[in-house]
Amino acid sequence: MMVGANLAVLIFWRAAIVDHGSLKAALAGIRQLTQPGAWPLPSARAVGVILAFAAIQALLTIVVPGRTALGPLTPCGQRQTYKINGLAVWLITIAAYWLFGIQLGLFPAAWVYDNLGSILATCSLLGLIFCIFLYLKGVLRPSSPDFGRSRNPLFDYFWGVELHPSLGPIELKHFVVSKLGMMCWGIIVLSCLAKQYQLQQHLNSSLLLSAILQLAYIAKFYMWERGYLGTLDMAHDWAGFYLCWASITWLPIVYTMPAIYLAEHPVELPPAIFVVLLVLGVAAIAGTYNADRQRFWLRESSGMARVWGKPPVLIAAKYHDAQGQERNSQLLASGWWGVARHFNYVLEIAGALAWTLPCGFRQLLPYIYVVYLAAMLLQRSFRDEARCREKYGLYWTEYCRRVPYRLLPGVF
Ligand code: NDP
Repeated sequence: MMVGANLAVLIFWRAAIVDHGSLKAALAGIRQLTQPGAWPLPSARAVGVILAFAAIQALLTIVVPGRTALGPLTPCGQRQTYKINGLAVWLITIAAYWLFGIQLGLFPAAWVYDNLGSILATCSLLGLIFCIFLYLKGVLRPSSPDFGRSRNPLFDYFWGVELHPSLGPIELKHFVVSKLGMMCWGIIVLSCLAKQYQLQQHLNSSLLLSAILQLAYIAKFYMWERGYLGTLDMAHDWAGFYLCWASITWLPIVYTMPAIYLAEHPVELPPAIFVVLLVLGVAAIAGTYNADRQRFWLRESSGMARVWGKPPVLIAAKYHDAQGQERNSQLLASGWWGVARHFNYVLEIAGALAWTLPCGFRQLLPYIYVVYLAAMLLQRSFRDEARCREKYGLYWTEYCRRVPYRLLPGVF
């Protein structure tokens, strides 16, 4: 996976930027892997820009005010502390990009798009080095009792050896996902808008629609930052290549692909299609927000929150933590969580489809995010349910009896 993911990033970049969206041409280009200029390389300039960006984000994370929030109980019975200021930091970052890049012209607003190859190659290299650091830090100086190693160092590098590695006040996993990966997504979308404007002096409706929906999704992510602390990424996955390298390198090319493709390959959208996709996209994004909130508020309010205007249908569950201590939890069996056990994933895919369909059907490439997301969430639903079954036992069986479908009611 580690080698394949690196190769895939290069192929996606080449297909998007060099081969006009043709994956077939990019795959054929693999034969020229060793020819100079055929593939992007890390550059000193990209290293400087990326490290400066990471340093600015770290500074903003520390100085921008935000509420302190506690993550869920870890297997070792700890609760990680976080500062919730992602929305403010995102707005500052976007405003700074607009002011310095577009209004004052201090740097070319399309610089990121124009240098995407060397940026990705550099991100990959820095990401690999960062994961070595995470591995060594976890082995030598773990930040909390939630750490451990398997007998396979390669697996530990891939999966991580710590649940919540921290440097000073910054929890590194949260920082990498929220302040680097998600932050880059917005910047790349803005850079694609700038590139298209530079090329044709106006913005095409397809890119505009895709960009609006992607930025709305990112805004939703930050508005829901507190709830994100309880997701699989934050609560259960460890800090290694799988999560951290992916946020730094995979996310910037795969998640942004519809915008990257549309920057130079615009599609004319009839106004009616524009409106239908906009409404569908906004509804799907609002739906995921609502589903995530239902689960989050249920637990925050100890089961008192109303769900779709009604008292929630609850399963009061018990489980044992890593120390064998009995703990209480709640499983919601109404609202979105009564439609299917992971209907939130269906809404997530629907939102991504809404901002990808404006790319039309000339090439498969823009759909790599939707295809990847569907495969990843399907696999994740199995992974999550296996974990929940082990954690909650008979309580999970009862939930499955009440809500028999995993993803699509009546189908699967
Ligand atoms: P979920 O939000 O589905 O959370 C799963 C966890 O919630 C379970 O492990 C369990 O944790 C708890 N849970 C499960 N069923 C119930 C229930 N009925 N009632 C209460 N709690 C329950 O999973 P994710 O963390 O994967 O996703 C979070 C969000 O992020 C989703 O909107 C998803 O679509 C999105 N996402 C986006 C991705 C992307 O790349 N775009 C990737 C992954 C997710 P516990 O042990 O606490 O009980």
